Amino acid sequence: VEVLGSFAAVRRWGESLQGSFGLVPTMGYLHEGHISLLEGARAGCDAVVMSLFVNPLQFDDPTDLSRYPRDPDRDLELAERAGVNVVFAPGVAEMYATDPIFRVSPGRMAASMEGARRPGHFEGVALAVTKLLAGIRPDRAYFGKKDAQQLAIVQRLATDLSLPVDIVAMPTVREADGLALGSRNVFLGAAARSRARSLSRGLFMAADSVAAGERGGAVLEAHAGTPAGADDRVELEYVELAAQEDVGRLEELDRPAFLAIAATIDGVRLIDNVSFEWKAGVPVPDRGVRLDRISALYSTEED
Ligand code: AMP
Repeated sequence: VEVLGSFAAVRRWGESLQGSFGLVPTMGYLHEGHISLLEGARAGCDAVVMSLFVNPLQFDDPTDLSRYPRDPDRDLELAERAGVNVVFAPGVAEMYATDPIFRVSPGRMAASMEGARRPGHFEGVALAVTKLLAGIRPDRAYFGKKDAQQLAIVQRLATDLSLPVDIVAMPTVREADGLALGSRNVFLGAAARSRARSLSRGLFMAADSVAAGERGGAVLEAHAGTPAGADDRVELEYVELAAQEDVGRLEELDRPAFLAIAATIDGVRLIDNVSFEWKAGVPVPDRGVRLDRISALYSTEED
């Protein structure tokens, strides 16, 4: 896999290609969630660029930034194995060569849920994604449904700013017991790890009730929050049914939406959601996909 550090170099590579290429933006410390995005890109495009950049602008908490897990050598190895053609690994100086005066504001889409708890987070995401899309010019860009509010914001960003790129959403990849994979999961101790199941358990209960006909937002939020709320070592932050188009809170599940939950367990902040697509007039839950083996997150050596 070729590692490039400048926008200009990646653009030259893209312009010399015959076919289409996809971009998969990541902050590294790869797990099967990232790998499934890379596989989606490989299946949908002739070539794949993965970006690897821990974006300081999207961290509202300096401690979270300094302890964010990093292992670039392992990331390159996993990217290579996943068939990535180019890894774009810019330094902060390349990414923010000018201290940016212009900003990209997600407006009210950043006012709720993650945006309300993490001031400036989505402005940082939106600026980095805009720069990656404008500076690299991929045909398609791949994002995980794990970060549902981020996905909704990126979809709307591309639409509202008429960016010439297809945004492709990929299902959430989960561990065998349902916990959504996330790079920060490596900070969960054994007890916290078993408590963490309560998030996906509640979401799946809510998804089951939707399949059985329930449409009330408050009822679905209550179902989703029940297991986490029952455990006093789980600090539940929010449970919210939000519209896919603008992340506005929904009283009724009557359009494409996602049901999102956030909680902190032993100091580790976790988010998860199930989304609802609309097919033949009814909402169809997307619970994501489960691994049948232990995640690469926990393997310390290469095989
Ligand atoms: P990150 O490196 O955490 O910024 O994530 C990079 C991309 O991978 C984002 O589009 C995430 O939504 C996606 N992603 C992270 N975790 C998962 C997961 N468990 N399943 C699917 N996609 C994921």
